[in-house]
Amino acid sequence: QAVRIDGKANAESVLRDVTAAGAALHKKTGVKPGLAVVLVGEDPASQVYVANKGRTAEACGFHSVTHRLPADTSQEALLALIDELNADPAIHGILQQLPLPKGLDADVVVGRIDPDKDVDGLTLVNAGRLASGLADDAFVPCTPAGCMVLLRQVLGDDLSGKRAVVVGRSNLVGKPMAQLLLLANATVTVAHSRTKDLPALCREADILVAAIGRPGLLKGDCVKPGAVVIDVGINRVPAPDKGEGKTRLVGDVAYDEAAAIASAITPVPGGVGPMTIAMLMANTVASACRAAGEPRPRF
Ligand code: NAD
Repeated sequence: QAVRIDGKANAESVLRDVTAAGAALHKKTGVKPGLAVVLVGEDPASQVYVANKGRTAEACGFHSVTHRLPADTSQEALLALIDELNADPAIHGILQQLPLPKGLDADVVVGRIDPDKDVDGLTLVNAGRLASGLADDAFVPCTPAGCMVLLRQVLGDDLSGKRAVVVGRSNLVGKPMAQLLLLANATVTVAHSRTKDLPALCREADILVAAIGRPGLLKGDCVKPGAVVIDVGINRVPAPDKGEGKTRLVGDVAYDEAAAIASAITPVPGGVGPMTIAMLMANTVASACRAAGEPRPRF
């Protein structure tokens, strides 16, 4: 039976270190890490995420601001807000919550964020830095960065000789995850919706990362004995056993089947999810340190 990798405990540990680093920076330089989160429209999941980010930033002792804009906000008005935050010395991290309502172009809006405040790591500059192996200068997207913290805990820093399969090729998760695994010396394959015979490919993986968005797609036949499985997926599915109309969150991996074969596995919820928000705080304190001319802390 696989070890259950506890994302919640790991996230709490990262957040303790982040809080300490922020307090030390403030004491030495007077600079308090500042995070601005921008939400446009009323997407319910996004509202939960944004409230969580604001709460966590405050708990870390950060200066935290949340801008909630109506769904009919114009692109010009949104870009003007981003410009304002780019110019605000009290703000070190800007997060534009996605998806944006129809009529707003996420590429343009995210592209407007100053790369030095792009704590989500989604600007072309930060994606390029990561792809060029300059991860130390980049802000790395928070979800794959969090996956790496969990992997390092189980397997150590050096993944030489390990085969990794990442299922999913999004700019947010799959691609940066593959880059990070490469930088850690794993041999990496990226699979996606057009991949043939996905189970056979996954069974080659010593490290299997699922970032798909399909509940329980990867079953026991996708897991090599002893593999480490990182399940990024967050899917809401009906849970009639909990009562009529009730739902629950599940990952992209069929947990029980995979846990019987793997050596370690992240649960959903309580795995990668809590790490994502912790790494957002880590990137923000790192940005504040950089802005104050202090060395960048590592988490
Ligand atoms: P996405 O929709 O942008 O990308 C999904 C990827 O899965 C695509 O590259 C696609 O090619 C691949 N895919 C789809 N169907 C497939 C199939 N049948 N076989 C193989 N590959 C297939 O999604 P995303 O933003 O990368 O997110 C992926 C999942 O991770 C979602 O469930 C999302 O909710 C979750 N997520 C979780 C966190 C977190 O904090 N834990 C953060 C971001 C995303």
